[in-house]
Amino acid sequence: MQKPVTTTAAELGITDDLLVARGLRQYQEARELIIAEVGTDGREHQLISQAADAWRQLRSAANEAGINLFIVSAFRSIERQVAIIRRKLDAGISIEEILTVLAPPGFSEHHTGCAVDICTPGTAPATLEFETTAAFSWLMDNANAYGFYLSYPQGNPEGFQYEPWHWCFHPAQTTFTT
Ligand SMILES: [Zn+2]
Repeated sequence: MQKPVTTTAAELGITDDLLVARGLRQYQEARELIIAEVGTDGREHQLISQAADAWRQLRSAANEAGINLFIVSAFRSIERQVAIIRRKLDAGISIEEILTVLAPPGFSEHHTGCAVDICTPGTAPATLEFETTAAFSWLMDNANAYGFYLSYPQGNPEGFQYEPWHWCFHPAQTTFTT
């Protein structure tokens, strides 16, 4: 049986106060996923089918414009989020510091199967360097047309660091909040 996410969060030292202070949204874990893309390392990146379709359309439009995009990270389970946070805690990083770059389990957009961390060849994944690429400029001009939006711009109210690589598919008239 699955524990409530707030219990899981508390076990990692993430208090209700912190969750409230950050104003974080809780996300449902996607159930029906398909493989949206397979990385050159063989890793399968999963999304819900609607997001996967939109992603492929976006990617081929980018390709036609001479922009090469690939997924670094897509769906991530709550369990996996816990494991990633635990590994950082074990490495001696404080929970406060961890939570500027990672959402508490249950509060990551990656749980929805709609969020993607995007990269382009020649750039280190999930770094601010991505903002300086032609790929990022292309996304800023075109991604919205495919339903993808930049989730964490500079100064985002949730208090996450600026993440130019993290985009989320928002199908019209659908909300993922619980
Ligand atoms: Zn992300």
